[in-house]
Amino acid sequence: MTTEILSSATDIDSAAAEAIQASEAAKKHSHEMNKLSKRLHRQVGQAIGDFNMIEDGDKVMVCVSGGKDSYSLLDILINLRDRAPIKFSIVAVNLDQKQPGFPEDILPAYLKSRGVDFHIEEQDTYSIVKRLVPEGKTTCSLCSRLRRGILYRVAGELGATKIALGHHRDDIVTTLMLNMFFGSRMKGMPAKLVSDDGKNVVIRPLAYVKESDLERWAEHREFPIIPCNLCGSQPNLQRATVKAMLQDWDKRFPGRVDNMFTAMGNIVTSHMMDRELFPFETIKATGAPVADGDIAFDEDEQCGTPAPATGVVNIIRPGAKGQVPAPVDDAGEAYSAADD
Ligand code: SF4
Repeated sequence: MTTEILSSATDIDSAAAEAIQASEAAKKHSHEMNKLSKRLHRQVGQAIGDFNMIEDGDKVMVCVSGGKDSYSLLDILINLRDRAPIKFSIVAVNLDQKQPGFPEDILPAYLKSRGVDFHIEEQDTYSIVKRLVPEGKTTCSLCSRLRRGILYRVAGELGATKIALGHHRDDIVTTLMLNMFFGSRMKGMPAKLVSDDGKNVVIRPLAYVKESDLERWAEHREFPIIPCNLCGSQPNLQRATVKAMLQDWDKRFPGRVDNMFTAMGNIVTSHMMDRELFPFETIKATGAPVADGDIAFDEDEQCGTPAPATGVVNIIRPGAKGQVPAPVDDAGEAYSAADD
């Protein structure tokens, strides 16, 4: 009898310990998600402000593909719209390209559940691409061109004043690397641009956001992700290779991708080689010190400078060109009761 009592007491003890552990894990998770939520909303708000992406009265067409990035973009913009000091509206647009197996009902059901205006544009670009691109060749470039044209037209029909895309910081840096390696150009992906038909303003509110944060957010929010391989296209191997290289760098040298991203907003034209951007042909010694001038024979003072801690995003604000921007520390938020 005594043994049985002792054994059941032990069972109760271990069940209680497990319950405490589970409760602590849930609390920690909730705290982390709360921090992630704050960071994502702050970074998106910051990008919108820095580039004046959204103005009072705008109608923002959010392109939603069913992937983690565009779901997150829509989710965060809805939240920001509800608390922004300016008034803007959102219409979510999905282009159903008629790929085999595309689950037509997932997005409408989700968008209805969010109470957001939406439009599903049905265009069989899949058949066009299959017909025009020879077997074995990559279909993405024609597919993207067709998709872009359709989305621009739809934006006009819906009266949208801005088109929001879900590209993030890692897409932007990867594109810069790809253009350098394969296109011999220093060209990234702008946070805001006028479309090539001259009729639309395209914005990328996730420009300051890391892809890994979007992955965690999508999992936390349980977005009904639609697989992106329905078209059967081969993955872009060059993009995948550059992305893996950046991820490896960032793992070994935390902060490196952040620094590369920051560098894109901090260009010293006198120390590059573009003769269109800087008048090298006409420069002359003036005898006066130049703030931006080279200390030609000094050792590179940047050598050995440690990278900032992971998660530090140096956000460039307009007018800060050429200056070291103030870092926004995303990793170092102190825990406080208000976070829970
Ligand atoms: S992966 Fe498929 S759907 Fe996406 S751009 Fe390429 S061809 Fe088009």
